[in-house]
Amino acid sequence: MSIISTDIAKAVELLTNEELVAIPTETVYGLAGNIYSDLAIKAIFETKQRPFFNPLIVHIPSLKSLSSIVSNVPEKAKLLAEAFWPGPVTLVLKKKNTIPDLITAGKNTVAVRVPNHPITLELLNRLPFPLAAPSANPFSSISPTTAKHVESYFDHKIKMILDGGACKSGIESTIVGFEDDEPVIYRLGSTSLEAIEQVVGKVKIKNKKESNVEAPGMLARHYAPKTRTILTKNIIKVIEENSSGKIGVLAFKNTIKHENVTFQIVLSETANMEEAASKLYDALHQLDEKNLDIIIAEKLPTKGLGKSINDRLSRATKQ
Ligand code: AMP
Ligand code: MG
Repeated sequence: MSIISTDIAKAVELLTNEELVAIPTETVYGLAGNIYSDLAIKAIFETKQRPFFNPLIVHIPSLKSLSSIVSNVPEKAKLLAEAFWPGPVTLVLKKKNTIPDLITAGKNTVAVRVPNHPITLELLNRLPFPLAAPSANPFSSISPTTAKHVESYFDHKIKMILDGGACKSGIESTIVGFEDDEPVIYRLGSTSLEAIEQVVGKVKIKNKKESNVEAPGMLARHYAPKTRTILTKNIIKVIEENSSGKIGVLAFKNTIKHENVTFQIVLSETANMEEAASKLYDALHQLDEKNLDIIIAEKLPTKGLGKSINDRLSRATKQ
């Protein structure tokens, strides 16, 4: 029997019993558990094979719940929460003592957001505790944007995937931390830098080395297909350099016309960044299933969500 279901009451029951449930969000599917259950949180790390130094995002039903998670909210954090919640902005703030160290990897800060998906909001409203929910994929592989993607990773490993259809935004939330109460972007994501700057003015983007990761979503290799993948501005040139193997292409808006291409996906024929973001991971999943020798991905224009998509593609292509 399939573990994919739309039964919210069953999800409530499982989560209350310290089990894991994969949940839909507007960004990607999450692997969720009660933040106050040691058993559930350890199971999240084990199921994902995620190293314990990688902290988890806490999901709450509304801005009202924030005061039970964090001890201090800088003015600009409040502005961002009011502007974007429910939605794909994660705030990293000083944690309350009641937040377990396992969630925050021992840091004194906690990442928190209100997801924008009706089913998961309904679920969070029915539960007396928040949910920790990292993306529902094995560590460093492609994030899931459909219930089927999650099933292909975790069938038999978890009891239920709450089906909420395909994720609308399609890439992870934008993570914003605070240094001296000023916002700093730790991870680009499905809220564009420009949209954030409209609310709080100019923000810094942090780009730390792997040895000192502020947010592990910044690890060099992440979100990666199993097939060797190359990111380039010049697809034709890379096709010609790799003409002996089976080639897959992930193009932005124009179909690449070349006889050596075996399989190809165009992200948005109208060059719409939102559409491209929503299709990105499903396209990578599809390309990865075709037994290709190489996937050649096209770099997007570095505007709006193009920057976030290029960030994911560059991590997908690191060896
Ligand atoms: P995922 O849910 O798999 O997309 O990963 C969660 C992301 O949130 C990771 O990149 C974490 O590094 C980041 N994160 C969670 N908690 C913190 C924190 N306290 N400080 C900085 N980043 C965090
Ligand atoms: Mg992830």
